[in-house]
Amino acid sequence: MAEKIRTSRTTELEFGGPVGAFLLIFVMPGTVFYLLLTCRTKEASVLQLPGPLPPFESLWNPVALMILLAWFFLQALLYILPMGKVSEGTPLRDNSRLKYRINAFHAMMVSSLLAGVALVLKLPLSYVYDHFLQLAVGSAFLALVLSIFLYMKSLTAPMSALAPGGNSGNPLYDFFIGHELNPRIGSFDLKYFCELRPGLIGWCFINLCFLMKEIELQGSPSLSMILVCGFQAVYVIDALWHEEAILTTMDIVHDGFGFMLAFGDLCWVPFTYSLQGYFLVTHPQKLGVTAATGIVLLNTLGYIIFRGSNSQKNAFRRNPADPQVAGLETIPTATGKRLLVSGWWGLVRHPNYLGDLIMALAWSLPCGLSHILPYFYVIYFTVLLIHREARDEHQCMKKYGLAWQEYCRRVPYRIFPYIY
Ligand code: NDP
Repeated sequence: MAEKIRTSRTTELEFGGPVGAFLLIFVMPGTVFYLLLTCRTKEASVLQLPGPLPPFESLWNPVALMILLAWFFLQALLYILPMGKVSEGTPLRDNSRLKYRINAFHAMMVSSLLAGVALVLKLPLSYVYDHFLQLAVGSAFLALVLSIFLYMKSLTAPMSALAPGGNSGNPLYDFFIGHELNPRIGSFDLKYFCELRPGLIGWCFINLCFLMKEIELQGSPSLSMILVCGFQAVYVIDALWHEEAILTTMDIVHDGFGFMLAFGDLCWVPFTYSLQGYFLVTHPQKLGVTAATGIVLLNTLGYIIFRGSNSQKNAFRRNPADPQVAGLETIPTATGKRLLVSGWWGLVRHPNYLGDLIMALAWSLPCGLSHILPYFYVIYFTVLLIHREARDEHQCMKKYGLAWQEYCRRVPYRIFPYIY
C-alpha cells in the first residue's frame, strides 16, 4: 500500500491538461502585459485593440531587474532570521510534518520601516510607477527562471516528495502545475516563502509608490487612492498576521510548486492586483464622502464574512472543542473529521470566498464606473474562486463521500446565497 501511494501517478489532469497548461504559460504573462499597456493609455479601454508591442528597451531594464532581485533577497533574508515561532504543517504522505517559520508579519514590519526610511530620505519611489512595465517583465523572467529551476530540482526528488496533482508524467503539465510538493533548499521552503512574502508585501509597496506618484502629479493623494491602498494594505496585513492558516490551504497541502504558483506569486499578484492604484495615477476620480462611506461599509462587510468564516474553520480544524466553535452544529464523516453545518459554514459552502469577493468589489468601486479595467480583479477573482470552489468540492466529495452529499443537501448554495 505504502509503495502504491509513493509511486502513484496523477491521472486527473486540471486546466485542460498539457494543452491548457501550454496555453496558460503564454496567456498569464500576456494578460499582465495587456492590462498594464492598456491601463497606461488615455482611454484605458479594453475595447480598443492593443497597440504595437513597445520596443525592447522599454520592456527590459537591468536596473529594474536588480531592484527586483534586491527585494527578493531582502525578503529571503527576513524569512531566515530567527524571528517568530516555528509551526508544523499538516502530515505528509509519509506521516512526517515539515516545520515552518511564522514571521511574515515581522517581515512586513521591517519592510514598512525601510519604506519609511525611503520616504524620509526622499528616495524617488515614483520610479516604480515610471518603470512598472519593466519591473513586470523582470518579475515574469524571474518566475520563469525559478520554475525551470524547480522542475530540474524535482527530477531528483524522491517519489514521496512529489505533488499528488503534479506527477502526470507529462513534463509540460508537471512543469506548469508543479512537480514537487514542498521544494526546499535546506530548511528554506521555496513555495511557502513565495506565497506570502515577495509578491504580497511587494503589492503594498507598489501601492505606496503609486500614492507617491499621485502626490507628485496632483499635489495630494486622492480619496480613491487612499481607500484602495488602505483596503489592500489591511488585506495583506491580515494574511500575514494569520500566516499559520496558510499551512492548511490547497496551495500548500495539495498543489506542487511550478510555473503556475511561481508566476502567480511573483508576477501576477503584485502586477495585476495593484491595477486599481496604477489606473488612478493617470485617471483621477472624484469620490464624494457618501460614496466613500458606502464603499468602506461594503469592504467592512466583506472583511467580517471573510475573516469570520476563515477563523471559524481554522479554530474548528485546530480544536473542535474550542469554546468559540464548540456550540456549532456539525456532521460526522467516515474519516473521523466533522463538517460544520451552522455558523458561517451553514450560510453557503464557501463563505470565505463570498467575503473575499465582496471586498474585491469594494476595491474597484473607488475607481468610478466609467472604465471596466479597474474591475479586472473582481471579474478575474470571481472566475478563479468559482473554479477553485469546484476543485475543492471535487476533493471534498472524494474525501467525505456521503457526508459531503449530506452537507450539500443541508447547505445548497456554494458561494452566493440563493444565487449560486
Ligand atoms: P478553504 O479555506 O476554503 O478550504 C477548503 C477546505 O476547508 C476544504 O477542502 C475542507 O478541508 C474544509 N472545509 C470545507 N467545508 C467545510 C466545513 N463545512 N466544515 C469544516 N471544514 C470544511 O480554501 P482556500 O485555500 O481556497 O481559501 C482560503 C482563503 O484564501 C479564502 O478566504 C480565499 O478566498 C482566499 N484566497 C485568496 C486568493 C487571492 O488570490 N486573493 C486566492 C485563493 C484563495 P478539510 O475538511 O480537509 O479541512
